[in-house]
Amino acid sequence: MNKFEQLGLNESLQLAIKDLGFENPSEVQEKAIPILLEKDTDIVALAQTGTGKTAAFGFPLIQKIDAENRNTQALVLSPTRELCLQITNEIKQYSKYVKGLHTVAVYGGANINEQAKEIKRGAQIIVATPGRMQDMINRGMVNIKNIDFCVLDEADEMLNMGFYEDITAILSDTPENKSTWLFSATMPQEVARIAREFMRKPLEITVGHKNSGNVNVSHEFYVVNGRDRYSALKRLADANPDIFSVVFCRTKRDTQAIADKLIEDGYNAAALHGDLSQTQRDSVMKSFRQRQIQMLVATDVAARGIDVDDITHVINYQLPDEIETYTHRSGRTGRAGKSGTSLVIITKSEIRKIHQIEKIIQTKFEEKPIPSGIEIC
Ligand code: ADP
Ligand code: MG
Repeated sequence: MNKFEQLGLNESLQLAIKDLGFENPSEVQEKAIPILLEKDTDIVALAQTGTGKTAAFGFPLIQKIDAENRNTQALVLSPTRELCLQITNEIKQYSKYVKGLHTVAVYGGANINEQAKEIKRGAQIIVATPGRMQDMINRGMVNIKNIDFCVLDEADEMLNMGFYEDITAILSDTPENKSTWLFSATMPQEVARIAREFMRKPLEITVGHKNSGNVNVSHEFYVVNGRDRYSALKRLADANPDIFSVVFCRTKRDTQAIADKLIEDGYNAAALHGDLSQTQRDSVMKSFRQRQIQMLVATDVAARGIDVDDITHVINYQLPDEIETYTHRSGRTGRAGKSGTSLVIITKSEIRKIHQIEKIIQTKFEEKPIPSGIEIC
């Protein structure tokens, strides 16, 4: 059994793969194909350019489509006309042994009526640029209300090019119960936003040199005078009323003290550190999971096992002693395709530590001013 067969690909695809001369699946193909074939799930797949993402969604798409039904079943959005043509061409090669399967490319700069005619003749797969697709929808030339699959290819590029509005308008025109497959080389905020707003609990796969930093997380630092640390924390909390965060302190004593102060000042906070009994810790974690606590103030050791989704902010009230620990802290947010923010409150003398961290996570921090405004209490 060859490797592609092991992934669950059928015979007509294997024949085409043989013609293409692909011997082994690439990593993103190995990870994505079995999931996409077996499950009706949304997926976010992150892999560098040139890792074979087209086949990673193209193979399962072809296998899942009903070629005997001529209705449009899949929409692939792609940033440029060139890519649109390239993907169409690839899909045609992959599906050359599948009778009755038609793929149409839809992009600007070519005759829209011709493209509409081609779709009318029956195309199960439409590969389109967002601008032209939106145009065709507006003119009633295409119906994507019953598609089963929507692929967002090179999502970061599409959003870079300013297609956010078009993409969201197009997605709103598709049925709720379709599967959405998002492929991207990187995961900037806007991509995460699409994933958050238009996808249902997407599975995430990442391939390649995943640097120690999480691509969903943006990193910010705030410079304060040492004695203003606590009021800065409050300002940050006030500026983010829906905050659901872990606030890291260096010692058990500081952890307890900051949590106490926050509670006194009317915040939904609790402390988590090694001086608490197991029962206390379990109870704190339970409340945090249930979101009765918005700010969990914790030591690194106590926070080690925390696996809570949807944490919006990691706040480094103090930087860790070991710079590497920063990665573990910031990894508490930005999970499952969601975006998150890791904030660091520092004094001027600590800026060089930020630069050390930047090297480790291969990501730049943004320096921000402490939000001004009225404090809640
Ligand atoms: P990406 O979208 O990740 O940038 P592509 O899907 O465009 O990458 O693929 C890059 C190149 O690799 C293409 O020329 C494609 O034909 C080739 N390729 C894809 N999968 C395989 C494979 N399993 N074996 C060999 N070559 C492959
Ligand atoms: Mg690609």
